[in-house]
Amino acid sequence: MRVLGFESSCDETGVALVELPAPGETGVPRLLAQALHSQISMHQAYGGVVPELASRDHIRRVLPLSREVLSQAQLGLQDIDVIAYTEGPGLAGALLVGAGVAVSLAAALGKPAVGVHHLEGHLLSPFLSADPPEFPFVALLVSGGHTQLMRVDEVGQYEILGETIDDAAGEAFDKSAKLLGLPYPGGPHLSKLAEQGRADAFELPRPLLHSGKPDFSFAGLKTAVLTQLKKLGEAPTETQRADLAASTQAAIVEVLVKKSLMALKDTGLKRLVVAGGVGANASLRAQLNAACAKRGVRVHYPELSLCTDNGAMIAMAAAMRLQRGMARLSHAGGFGVRPRWDLSAA
Ligand code: ATP
Ligand code: MG
Ligand code: FE
Repeated sequence: MRVLGFESSCDETGVALVELPAPGETGVPRLLAQALHSQISMHQAYGGVVPELASRDHIRRVLPLSREVLSQAQLGLQDIDVIAYTEGPGLAGALLVGAGVAVSLAAALGKPAVGVHHLEGHLLSPFLSADPPEFPFVALLVSGGHTQLMRVDEVGQYEILGETIDDAAGEAFDKSAKLLGLPYPGGPHLSKLAEQGRADAFELPRPLLHSGKPDFSFAGLKTAVLTQLKKLGEAPTETQRADLAASTQAAIVEVLVKKSLMALKDTGLKRLVVAGGVGANASLRAQLNAACAKRGVRVHYPELSLCTDNGAMIAMAAAMRLQRGMARLSHAGGFGVRPRWDLSAA
């Protein structure tokens, strides 16, 4: 069985084809082909995502990307059994493009369509890696819009252990990066600048570090970064900027690592799965790897290219639900999107 998946929740148009193991065989579904178009350069001039421009660009890209995926896989539309799309959460107009195309295509082919939760896609993306995890595990979901620690017992069994009460980790990276004059999205740029800096150069807050719960708060960090920048005056030197970037990254990473260890200790689980864009951060990976190795905990990440939004994770999440007989397939031809949607309700 083959699943074609569409992602269009924000500023990436992703299409991918995943194949389930043959009936009677076990194993993880396999990625056959994928294509991705990032709108980052289009939105950069505005310092963030412009929703209407995002929707229009998804419309432009989605069919050429679909053709590319089928041609890579050397398959035709008749070889697809199920069509998956991101139903939410995300930008309403952007979601509607992927959902509209997926459901119309499914109706035209006489195949079922299935809506996927975007965060379930992120969460299950490490199953596309060469070293897929096994259930149960603790998941650290760190993306542009979400920061959550979860206990994951199986597909669809997500217990939120703690989450951010304000900004997400990706947002903290992006907002601090913006203050440092770096382009959108700032996470990777800040991380690169941080390589030249000293992480202990500036004292920045670690909010809720000692709250005793696996919860997060990052909103105060950007204010602290701004305060430090003001102290540096009109023209901070390149070294000062790099030091501030390194100190900011260290503050975010320390909290993420400490809280992940707390969730592992509280649940007694020995497996950690990291997902979402911030999961690409090299410093986060290095520090999690070191801390987990000491405690006999195995850590799994998505491939670097699959940390941020992509179609493969959407096709994969649908395929893993299909394998378990828990995909909500629709043959009706109608559809809706859910710009706001709790993962625990998925
Ligand atoms: P959500 O999935 O919550 O709806 P999103 O889809 O916008 O949000 P992702 O695509 O998972 O989020 O991740 C994007 C975020 O990841 C951005 O905030 C970006 O700055 C951050 N990011 C990407 N690479 C890195 C990196 N190397 N270091 C730090 N942050 C990074
Ligand atoms: Mg994005
Ligand atoms: Fe995302």
